[in-house]
Amino acid sequence: MDVLITGTGDAFSSRHHGSSSLVRGPGGWIAIDCPGGVLRAWREASETSGCHVDPFEVQDIILTHLHGDHCGGLETIGFMFRYMHPGTEGEPGPRPRLHALPEVLERTWERLAPAMDGSRGTSSPVHELETYFEPCPLIDGGTVDVAGCRVEARRTSHGIPTAALLVAGPDGCLGWSSDTEFDPELVNWLMASDCIVHECGEGPKHTTSDELATLPEEVRSCMRLMHRPDSAPPIGHGLSLLEEGELLRIRSDA
Ligand SMILES: [Zn+2]
Repeated sequence: MDVLITGTGDAFSSRHHGSSSLVRGPGGWIAIDCPGGVLRAWREASETSGCHVDPFEVQDIILTHLHGDHCGGLETIGFMFRYMHPGTEGEPGPRPRLHALPEVLERTWERLAPAMDGSRGTSSPVHELETYFEPCPLIDGGTVDVAGCRVEARRTSHGIPTAALLVAGPDGCLGWSSDTEFDPELVNWLMASDCIVHECGEGPKHTTSDELATLPEEVRSCMRLMHRPDSAPPIGHGLSLLEEGELLRIRSDA
């Protein structure tokens, strides 16, 4: 499984895109989260890695939660597929699938509606979430198919509904902590993967590098970090930060 890292920043970063990635599944590219400036993030990661990604090939978006540094690009993607899709000759383009916990899907339109409902200043909305996206619920503790990958979700402790992920393809499995307080049980769940991408947000409702340093070496050695503040000191404890444009090639040992 190839995972292109498209953003490593936290919510306040002036140097990095919001933490996010593109996973190459058997059925196409899967975006994990969709920060503001998402098309620039995808293009820059494509150029850095040499791994070309056509944004219209990203037809599955997994949304871990509704903080802006994870969902701020949804308006761009929704409008892009509907109105900019090549070959549709004025007809609406295909809808990307939006995978998220049910309570996240329930409230996504609250964020998007003022910009996307087409109400023209009246109280009569023309469009709804389903106009732009095909909502696909993730199952807490269960598995769904996303572009040929098996995706299992688990709620994290982060102040608002948030999902950690296990994304299993034919040749490897990615663990994605998403945003979370330090939770050794969550880390244990993520250890079913071949590589854990863990947040290191250092603030309230996040996980600190000192907390991650308490994990056994065999856990830290299969863990890469993101979502670290610009001002945070260099990381130690054998822990390794991801870089934007890095292409992770995740393969199971078996
Ligand atoms: Zn968050």
